[in-house]
Amino acid sequence: MYNPKSSKAEEFINHDEVLASLKYADENKNNIELIDKILEKAKSGKGLSHREAAVLLDCEIEEKNKEIFALAEKIKKDYYGNRIVLFAPLYLSNYCVNGCVYCPYHAKNKHIPRRKLTQEEIKQEVIALQDMGHKRLAIEAGEDPVNNPIEYILESIKTIYSIKHKNGAIRRVNVNIAATTVENYKKLHEAGIGTYILFQETYNKESYEQLHPTGPKHNYAYHTEAMDRAMQGGIDDVGLGVLFGLESYRYEFSALLMHSEHLEAVFGVGPHTISVPRIKKADDIDPDAFDNGIDDDIFAKIVACIRIAVPYTGMIISTRESEKCRERLLHLGISQISGGSKTSVGGYFKPMPEDENSAQFDVSDRRPLDEVIKWLMELGYLPSFCTACYGSGRTGDRFMEICKSQQIHNFCHPNAIMTLKEYLEDYASDETRKVGEKLIAKEVETLENPQIKSTVKEDLVKIHAGERDFKF
Ligand code: SAM
Repeated sequence: MYNPKSSKAEEFINHDEVLASLKYADENKNNIELIDKILEKAKSGKGLSHREAAVLLDCEIEEKNKEIFALAEKIKKDYYGNRIVLFAPLYLSNYCVNGCVYCPYHAKNKHIPRRKLTQEEIKQEVIALQDMGHKRLAIEAGEDPVNNPIEYILESIKTIYSIKHKNGAIRRVNVNIAATTVENYKKLHEAGIGTYILFQETYNKESYEQLHPTGPKHNYAYHTEAMDRAMQGGIDDVGLGVLFGLESYRYEFSALLMHSEHLEAVFGVGPHTISVPRIKKADDIDPDAFDNGIDDDIFAKIVACIRIAVPYTGMIISTRESEKCRERLLHLGISQISGGSKTSVGGYFKPMPEDENSAQFDVSDRRPLDEVIKWLMELGYLPSFCTACYGSGRTGDRFMEICKSQQIHNFCHPNAIMTLKEYLEDYASDETRKVGEKLIAKEVETLENPQIKSTVKEDLVKIHAGERDFKF
């Protein structure tokens, strides 16, 4: 029944194949010879199958685990350098007709304040985000065909892209809304979205149905096949994720990689990103009520093994996680983080204390963006506000080709430097700017191509003089 090329959810995420992979991993978790072979394959940068990666995830040999972490760090450095891309979520509406038992926006929650931003309010939120320095947003909304129809989402995207405040601009809008039809994905594509993100929550069908007892999201196949429809609708970049804590992490890990293999097999391109959210406390939600919570060590191992298994897929961590946890995961494979996030509807412009009550989940990392940027730079990372690939049509398989030929450094590194310079000029505090200028001077010297280096140097002078939006 298992068939990565099938269009049916239960065939490409085949339950028996997941169980067989978990059995195989368990039987081989101390098999040094096999683990060495898998690590050898992983070192070639070609990635791993879900079964191979599952063995690494289960591996109990301390020395090999050290090798796994070291390899994840190496792959991270080789493919992503020291760049970290920044984004912020923008909650448009928390009206929702679904019954997801882990989410405070579930329809039966009658006391949570419901809110949907008007276009004028979206403008205010976007200006507040632009004034922080953000260039890339992920819009979020509950599922509600009456309150948040696709027309509302499309109008909101148009509004977001239209706002040019001072030197600000949102150059990439990623979209995290419920599974929808090919027709609607086409419309989202035409509206110029970046990545379409949809978390699977759990790949285990039985658990999925219990965790989503009511509403359209109850339909496991419709949800699991959403990325296929998105790609059929013309969206090149899709973002996968599971909500860790709901089901056994081993099950989710193998199935997540099977999903990635399915997209690669059918569309010739795997997911653009993978997110790794963990369930958090929220209004009427107690994360301890779920049996499958994972500790920080297992979480780190999951991130490291995903990094090794799918080296070309970006990995995202949100402010659900603390500063300490984020620092650890950055080394192991995370390439994108959010900063200065608010998870309530209307949380950026004049936030009210009661807004906190309508948050989707508690934020652990509450630092403002400027502090996050300074922190990243002090850790040796190069914060990037780059959206150039998207702006230049380098999406989907074209993006992956550039990644695979390791050419990405010639684009991403200079673009990261220039967008950081823009940030420093327009939004940074004096202290952050000082740290940033030093870093930029150092990073420019690491550019190997002399022509690129001299163009970047010229452009940095132009940015200081007030010009914006340079890119390779
Ligand atoms: N309603 C859309 C959907 O169903 O996919 C949009 C996504 S929702 C606004 C964003 C994500 O937040 C969900 O997919 C879920 O994984 C996550 N989430 C929900 N409740 C959470 C909680 N208590 N802690 C952490 N993440 C949560």
